[in-house]
Amino acid sequence: MVHITVIGAGVVGLSSAVSIQRAFPGATVKVVADKFYDETTSIGAGGIFLPTLKNIPGVPFETLKRWSETSWKAYSRMATTDLASTTGHTVSHGYLFHTTKTEIPLYANIVFSFREMLTEELTRLGVDTRFKYGYEITTIITNMRKYLSWLMTQFTENGGVVEKRKIGSLSELYGHCDVVVNCSGLGSRQLFGDQLIYPVHGQLIKVEAPWVRDWIYTDTMAHILPSDDFTVIGGVKDKDNWSMTPDSSVRQDIMDKCLQVWPALKGAKVIGDWVGLRPMRNPVRLEKEVVRLPEGMLKVVHNYGHGSNGIALSWGTAVEATDMVKDLISTIPSPKL
Ligand SMILES: Cc1cc2nc3c(=O)[nH]c(=O)nc-3n(C[C@H](O)[C@H](O)[C@H](O)COP(=O)(O)OP(=O)(O)OC[C@H]3O[C@@H](n4cnc5c(N)ncnc54)[C@H](O)[C@@H]3O)c2cc1C
Repeated sequence: MVHITVIGAGVVGLSSAVSIQRAFPGATVKVVADKFYDETTSIGAGGIFLPTLKNIPGVPFETLKRWSETSWKAYSRMATTDLASTTGHTVSHGYLFHTTKTEIPLYANIVFSFREMLTEELTRLGVDTRFKYGYEITTIITNMRKYLSWLMTQFTENGGVVEKRKIGSLSELYGHCDVVVNCSGLGSRQLFGDQLIYPVHGQLIKVEAPWVRDWIYTDTMAHILPSDDFTVIGGVKDKDNWSMTPDSSVRQDIMDKCLQVWPALKGAKVIGDWVGLRPMRNPVRLEKEVVRLPEGMLKVVHNYGHGSNGIALSWGTAVEATDMVKDLISTIPSPKL
């Protein structure tokens, strides 16, 4: 009997736990976390699949392509079958508006459709003239409230065990499992002493604007992301800012910026504010490690630091973390549990 403990109940932890269960049908898989669902970063993310493939330093392009493609395969199946209403994946049409010419991103060949717009089309849409370049894209937006619930249901219905507690030291896990899968995001700073992980603070406004159906993203950091229950508008990327309190002046900036990009948003009813910390690490840490503890050696698979791309990449990295768990179990003997 194999025992695996996953630290973290965000989208990365739950995806890893479900993927591991599928690979080890007889195993005991436990998720330990101090924060679940509403308290995680994952719950508030806009959930759009637009992985910024060229901007993750330290991760080879082919690796990012593989993670993105594996995730896309899973999400596109969820969005286009009878699973969609429960998993929260929606086929979503929208626009990327840029002030400067950008290279065609790698996801252009992954998403449902991607095409560069003509200047004349931007004019007809009434797009602010700062935006000289436009791309019309059909991708997927994930409703994170639904997806996290679905992942948790999958996990518990498959016999997964859930424990709510903060792990203060890895020694607490020694002797209780064969492998630890570390999906603790920013928590890895304290738990593993990782100084490379840092927060990138984000603030969003939740609004009701059911007449705005297409998503919009700009290179001036404005985004409008409709999901099936409300629309989130943002955004802010503030490195090393640990604050979890919404700022009213930032809120006004977001509102002004988004209305300038898309005046049709006027009249949107504000539902509330949300702040989240992107767990950023260059590179994303997806690797095996055998950690030396005073009690003995502990086998660990790290899967964290997805920054702005955690929803887009989570299933892809979960599948590869699962392969690493298999590898550690088959090559290194475990201490007696
Ligand atoms: C404003 C904003 C918008 C975003 N929009 C998008 C988007 O549109 N598309 C996209 O792909 N990504 C987006 N992201 C990024 C995405 O949200 C993150 O990359 C992702 O949620 C990270 O997931 P995670 O599971 O690693 O971390 P988290 O959701 O933060 O989960 C970490 C887990 O680890 C647990 N933990 C940590 N330390 C300990 C400990 N010592 N003991 C026990 N448990 C511990 C926590 O309790 C928690 O359960 C956005 C992020 C923000 C902030």
